[in-house]
Amino acid sequence: MASDRLPPYRDATQPVEVRVRDLLSRMTLEEKAAQMAQIERRVASPDTLTGLPVGSVLSAGGSGPAERASARQWADMVDRMQRWALASRLGIPILYGIDAVHGHNNIYGATIFPHNVGLGATRDSDLARRIGEATALEVRATGIHWTFAPCVAVCRDVRWGRCYECFSEDTEIVRTMTSIVSGLQGPPPQDHFPGHPYLAGRFVLLRMRKNVIACAKHFVGDGGTHKGINEGNTICTYNELEEIHMKPYLDCLAQGVSTIMASYTSWNGSPLHSNYHLITDVLKGKLGFKGFVVSDWEGIDRLCDPQGSNYRYCVLASINAGIDMIMVPFNYQKFLEDLIFLVESGRISTSRIDDAVERILRVKFVSGLFEHPFSDSSLLDVIGCEEHRLLAREAVRKSVVLLKNGKDKQKPLLPLDKKARRILVAGSHADDIGNQCGGWSITWHGDSGRITIGTTILEAIREATANETEVIYEQSPSEATFSNQDYSYAVVVIGEEPYAEFLGDRTTLDIPFGGADVVSFVASRVPTVLVLISGRPLYLEPSLLEKIDALVAAWLPGTEAGGIADVLFGDHDFEGVLPVTWFKSVDQLPMNVGHPAYDPLFPLGYGLKMNL
Ligand code: BGC
Repeated sequence: MASDRLPPYRDATQPVEVRVRDLLSRMTLEEKAAQMAQIERRVASPDTLTGLPVGSVLSAGGSGPAERASARQWADMVDRMQRWALASRLGIPILYGIDAVHGHNNIYGATIFPHNVGLGATRDSDLARRIGEATALEVRATGIHWTFAPCVAVCRDVRWGRCYECFSEDTEIVRTMTSIVSGLQGPPPQDHFPGHPYLAGRFVLLRMRKNVIACAKHFVGDGGTHKGINEGNTICTYNELEEIHMKPYLDCLAQGVSTIMASYTSWNGSPLHSNYHLITDVLKGKLGFKGFVVSDWEGIDRLCDPQGSNYRYCVLASINAGIDMIMVPFNYQKFLEDLIFLVESGRISTSRIDDAVERILRVKFVSGLFEHPFSDSSLLDVIGCEEHRLLAREAVRKSVVLLKNGKDKQKPLLPLDKKARRILVAGSHADDIGNQCGGWSITWHGDSGRITIGTTILEAIREATANETEVIYEQSPSEATFSNQDYSYAVVVIGEEPYAEFLGDRTTLDIPFGGADVVSFVASRVPTVLVLISGRPLYLEPSLLEKIDALVAAWLPGTEAGGIADVLFGDHDFEGVLPVTWFKSVDQLPMNVGHPAYDPLFPLGYGLKMNL
């Protein structure tokens, strides 16, 4: 009997396009407008979710239900919001989004993998895919469906505060590492729903238990801004934009990436958030993207100066340019009013709204969200599990780059002797999980200190060395450290403090915290390996470089520093090679593979072996 039948949109046996069109035909303009909004979790309430349900909710910068909230608390929070959304007139589930950009980095106790710059040093596409799979599982364990990753920016200037979020300065290396999309979303489709063109290499049927929706960001040219200024202007020809910055998106599309985030940056002065040509003609037209485009956080506000001053214009320009979902409308009610006004007054066409909502619903159907809206408590044990930590350790080991080993004519210092009688470990980053993790770790900007569970470099060294070896740790060694003490060698670990986005923009790239002085002091007294923890190359004074016996770039390795000890002590040889060019002096910047005056300290791809 007809009345017993599920409406087609609720029937999982119906083709996705049938479900999309059926649901769209039942929606009011208000309901459509609300699907196009993504609100911050603190704004989410029965009103915004049951009354007129938004399309999505996000936790930005680790904002969770409580400080150090457990995975269970996260899952309960997301499920509660989902119940509110499902109680709405049409019962459309929300997509819950988060920045899980190096593991599920928002959750206390989750596995934190090396930041992308370190993964770029591995050149290991399969490793990236496996990290995607592990990240997806940890994210799903907390009931979350969507991660704003991967960042596929091609970093052309290391002064940019987001250099560490990039796999490389080289387009081809970034392309190799986009395999993380298949890990996050599940493998690309072979023959799902044959006959439905949108599935031809574009979408994956996610089983929401184990996979999450990925988001390639930030479209496009974010890594190419003048002087590496965050949210700045990328000045280049269309051909350069396509060749350098757009190509990684082709690989993400081929793997069925479901969402793409617009960039805060401008291209030749034109903000991406209102660029019809790049978003609609190129991305959705020429490249055939059938998923949805989400704005960046308050990204459309930046279309007005002062921010938000003429919000109606911001809505008009961004939606007409082809943005489908607005991340954090300046004011949710005002956004709805403006959007509805603009449609009713004919300035935004109904077909544009329908296109945006169809794209959003399509992702929700294809991802299996209607069938699996809730968290699965059987997954809770995967958070920070042994298997994932071992994978992170493997990633760290493969990402570390050996830049110098031994002074002229002397024996190389590495591999270090595990059985040495007494060794010195020093530096601000030797025993600091927060410094190892960098930005986007527990909080948006990250923090120094014991921010989460993991193994510090000092702990890893203690584990690797023999019981008889005395490991002395002094953060800032003094003369007293050396009085009557002989050390076989020293490991000095220094680097950058955690930062995110504009907080990390620099004009000089000196080693902070007087780190260079610590190294110099120690290296003049004992054979020294310098381990640098940083999101990018830092300035290395020639005299310092000469003084140290070995130099290792460890990037921002995350929670599993065991991988650093694995190579320092020769359990494995070094495999990492530079993902970015190492400049000699900051006045050479920007320096990258395409640069006409290429005279680096260490070129892209450089990396020594110990030849064990
Ligand atoms: C960043 C994005 C991020 C978003 C949500 C923005 O500031 O540019 O990369 O996904 O915040 O946290």
